[in-house]
Amino acid sequence: MQTQTLERMESDVRTYSRSFPVVFTKAQNARLTDESGREYIDFLAGAGTLNYGHNNPHLKQALVDYLASDGIVHGLDFWTAAKRDYLETLEEVILKPRGLDYKVHFPGPTGTNAVEAAIRLARVAKGRHNIVTFTNGFHGVTMGALATTGNRKFREATGGVPTVGAAFMPYDGYLGDATDTLDYFEKLLGDKSGGLDVPAAVIVETVQGEGGINVSGLEWLKRLEGLCRANDILLIVDDIQAGCGRTGKFFSFEHAGVTPDIVTNSKSLSGFGLPFAHVLMRPELDKWKPGQYNGTFRGFNLAFATAAAAMRKYWSDDTFERDVQRKARIVEERFAKIAAWLTEEKGIPASERGRGLMRGIDVGQGDIADKITAKAFENGLVIETSGQDGEVVKCLCPLTIPDEDLIEGLDILETSAKQALS
Ligand SMILES: *Cc1c(COP(=O)(O)O)cnc(C)c1O
Repeated sequence: MQTQTLERMESDVRTYSRSFPVVFTKAQNARLTDESGREYIDFLAGAGTLNYGHNNPHLKQALVDYLASDGIVHGLDFWTAAKRDYLETLEEVILKPRGLDYKVHFPGPTGTNAVEAAIRLARVAKGRHNIVTFTNGFHGVTMGALATTGNRKFREATGGVPTVGAAFMPYDGYLGDATDTLDYFEKLLGDKSGGLDVPAAVIVETVQGEGGINVSGLEWLKRLEGLCRANDILLIVDDIQAGCGRTGKFFSFEHAGVTPDIVTNSKSLSGFGLPFAHVLMRPELDKWKPGQYNGTFRGFNLAFATAAAAMRKYWSDDTFERDVQRKARIVEERFAKIAAWLTEEKGIPASERGRGLMRGIDVGQGDIADKITAKAFENGLVIETSGQDGEVVKCLCPLTIPDEDLIEGLDILETSAKQALS
């Protein structure tokens, strides 16, 4: 495989090609193929962007049909038939059955753009600047979103320009199982000299993806919602990674029965890996003036077509979500087995955690996790790590992965852990 041009010309900022230094050519569902014809099982799936697999045939057909009909591809934020169909499908298939009523803002097509728009809207709506975010949260790397992102690696890359406007609270579990971290937030909210500027909003991931598959308790989320309501603070759920079925429900907050004021989705929203994001907001929060938050790529019509097709295909009844839950149990069981082996045979304290098909094995140290994932890649499995030190081996396989590939991927991971640490 010829990689000289790639190595010479692409900026050092590249990341994933360092872990998987081959040239990929094709992909189908949960399998990637490189230029030499070798196949890999994909447990990374675009970091949660390919919930419905690579080149999903139903969605590809919708895309090809749309292109063949000379449908509008780019139209700024023109009204198009594709946009109308997307909104109607979102309302009928997703929002109404869940008793949700939201207006929809199409910012630029990336996750960080949706977060920027969401926190700015919250500030405009409440007339306050502060946004409460949580330890280990990841919300993107543009300046506004970066202020709410915990990881120092990203925060240090601003050339010294301070990231402002956010205050960090401890996420659920941050201080150990015995402490409810919301006691601290509640105390600060009620303390006039606690130092916390009354926030416009709280932004939270129900399961922290980049932060290490940290799962917030359903009671904790419910309590967070209550604290927000009681103190006139907006609740923003950043569902960019945990949404679109990853945790076993379309929205990850459904498990807790909370109703956010604002929701961000991106990653798997188009269904096909096309760049696409939206912000959902309670109708009365729509304080934007026309064009006040703009962008050239607002609502990508090809993504409207594939996203609507994905909602119709996978979310019209509960067959798909039940299947995700079933596969999640397979991963959970195997991860628990691998974690037990690491702990008992190797003396490496390890544990598994997750919700739905957003799961990880915490092996405590980044270098151990790296050894396992590097060996897994040698053995034909693409899998990444997350967490502050990269100490969590995480599975984000396509939700549509065939059982054979899921089992084969898990077999490879188990064997690789044993080989890497023997
Ligand atoms: C990936 C991610 C983002 C940022 O999305 P980009 O498209 O990379 O800008 C924001 N929030 C969460 C929870 C994410 O996982």
